[in-house]
Amino acid sequence: MAPPSRKRPDRPARSVTVVGARRLTPDLVRVEFTGEDLVALGELEFTDHYVKLLFPPPGADYTWPFEPARIREQLPREQWPVTRTYTIRAFDRAARRMTIDFVVHGDAGLAGPWAAAAAPGDVMQFMGPGGGWGPDPAADVHLLVGDESAIPAVAAALDALPEGARALVHLEVRDAAGQVPLRDLPGLAVNWVHRGDAAYGRPLAAAVRAAGLPEGDVRAFVHGEAEMVRDLRRFLFVENGVPKDRVSISGYWRAGLNEDGWQSGKQEFMAGVEAEEARAARS
Ligand SMILES: Cc1cc2nc3c(=O)[nH]c(=O)nc-3n(C[C@H](O)[C@H](O)[C@H](O)COP(=O)(O)OP(=O)(O)OC[C@H]3O[C@@H](n4cnc5c(N)ncnc54)[C@H](O)[C@@H]3O)c2cc1C
Repeated sequence: MAPPSRKRPDRPARSVTVVGARRLTPDLVRVEFTGEDLVALGELEFTDHYVKLLFPPPGADYTWPFEPARIREQLPREQWPVTRTYTIRAFDRAARRMTIDFVVHGDAGLAGPWAAAAAPGDVMQFMGPGGGWGPDPAADVHLLVGDESAIPAVAAALDALPEGARALVHLEVRDAAGQVPLRDLPGLAVNWVHRGDAAYGRPLAAAVRAAGLPEGDVRAFVHGEAEMVRDLRRFLFVENGVPKDRVSISGYWRAGLNEDGWQSGKQEFMAGVEAEEARAARS
């Protein structure tokens, strides 16, 4: 497996403290953070804003709070902090509050287990935010698709839609207990897809294909497990000719790889996906 990427951040790390943590579902934990550093994030304008949380790698002999620059100066590369990417589900600059919903997916990994055990007073550090997508008020309809990792971004997009907007939402969760309350809009249709024991993303991709594209000028937001994204890119771009500038689509994670492994192989994976699409478009 590829070594963790430990890029040198060009901006300072920000520090926050947990004020609350609670289970939204058996697989999703909501963590609320506070801290003066949140003021520097400004007023966030997009619904897919994300931060890169900083974790000491397994076996590191330091914990939060730490100074990433000092660690990189003083410790060997394998001890440098690693990052995990998370959507800002909600942000209130005046109240200095940031909300992140974490998928808890067993004992593997850093962020999932950290969130499962998070408690008031815990310190976390992060870089960012990044992001740049939000619902388009000019669109006839939005198609919003994701697994649990993208529920926060889809829910934030729904919160930002105008009252009269139309949206078709497909969200994959393990079973009915994984469903979360979403904003209720008259023009909203939500299809909860239950994965059960199937591979991540397969039932979701099948459900999106079975429902077909909604009528009208569509804007799509599709994120989650990488193989699901591969399948739905083909559905959108090759089979339905949706213009790429109408779609935000990317693999948030890949089954069997940690974030370091996924991020370091993502470019190659995407080159393969685009080559497949080009071949399919010619045939
Ligand atoms: C822009 C962006 C925004 C994201 N927003 C969110 C968010 O708001 N909430 C969220 O939970 N995730 C989000 N993710 C996905 C998250 O970054 C990854 O799931 C990350 O790998 C989790 O880190 P970890 O330390 O828990 O597990 P890792 O150490 O990265 O992985 C350990 C093992 O767990 C598996 N794994 C990782 N994620 C999942 C999962 N979701 N379900 C099942 N198995 C998994 C891996 O394949 C690996 O086998 C986002 C990703 C991106 C790129």
